[in-house]
Amino acid sequence: MGAAISILLAGHNVHILEAAAEIAEVGAGIQVLPNSARVLFAWGMEEALAQHATRPKRCNYIHWKGRRISHMNFHEYADELGTPFWDFHRANLHMELLNRAKELGATLETSSRVEEIEYEYLSADRTIAVAVLEDGRKRKADLIIGADGINSRCREILLGRKDPPVLTGDLAYRLLLNTEDMVKDPELKPFIEDPQVNYWMGPDAHAGMPHALLSLASQLTCLSELRPPRWKALQHGSSRAGRHACWRKHG
Ligand SMILES: Cc1cc2nc3c(=O)[nH]c(=O)nc-3n(C[C@H](O)[C@H](O)[C@H](O)COP(=O)(O)OP(=O)(O)OC[C@H]3O[C@@H](n4cnc5c(N)ncnc54)[C@H](O)[C@@H]3O)c2cc1C
Repeated sequence: MGAAISILLAGHNVHILEAAAEIAEVGAGIQVLPNSARVLFAWGMEEALAQHATRPKRCNYIHWKGRRISHMNFHEYADELGTPFWDFHRANLHMELLNRAKELGATLETSSRVEEIEYEYLSADRTIAVAVLEDGRKRKADLIIGADGINSRCREILLGRKDPPVLTGDLAYRLLLNTEDMVKDPELKPFIEDPQVNYWMGPDAHAGMPHALLSLASQLTCLSELRPPRWKALQHGSSRAGRHACWRKHG
């Protein structure tokens, strides 16, 4: 996430080409589950990330009319696995990933959208890759790793054809609540004081409240089976909340 195209140069320098003009605060909450936490710990990020993390105690699965269906004790399970369930504001996770990359010697270039990848044949046994940016700049590398998201240009270059994601028909709505307002409300206060992940499940839709973060809580609602015509209609609806169409890759 965040990092776009990594280039490994001779001497093992990692250079990141990022299309965005600046590394700015983006997104809302993100859950980091024990498998991802294990990777972050292996990168030496446990201490830096711990200061930003919320540690939800349990995950509740709730019928949309309020009946509790099931739950999972995150702390007990995390003890068993050796790594935690953590929630972050994405901006904090991105910032710490960037800090760690820089600490390890990586360099970053923003406003650098990769358009093409070419090859330069230096000798019979040495070829290097060249990332061509949209403004014509070129960056040479021993290895280019495409990490450019769901609309990946690198994937298309590798496949040699267009490869757009497919709309699943699902939509995710995301809204942010200010924790200062929430603690003033007796019904909402426990969500902040006792952080738990809650999913309310109903026919063709679910609402989740995965995050109780430092300054905000976020709620994600996913509506299923909305085919494109309905989706287009909803696009024009007004909402201050973030709205995401859900995409998947072919296959
Ligand atoms: C509403 C929502 C909630 C989610 N919640 C969670 C969660 O709780 N936990 C979880 O693990 N996952 C969650 N996800 C999924 C997670 O966000 C994605 O899986 C993850 O961001 C994908 O990371 P990525 O690095 O592949 O791509 P991205 O995060 O999309 O990063 C790609 C980067 O590449 C750059 N880029 C794109 N094209 C180019 C180009 N041609 N040249 C240079 N740079 C380029 C972009 O600017 C961007 O910075 C959620 C997703 C959504 C939509």
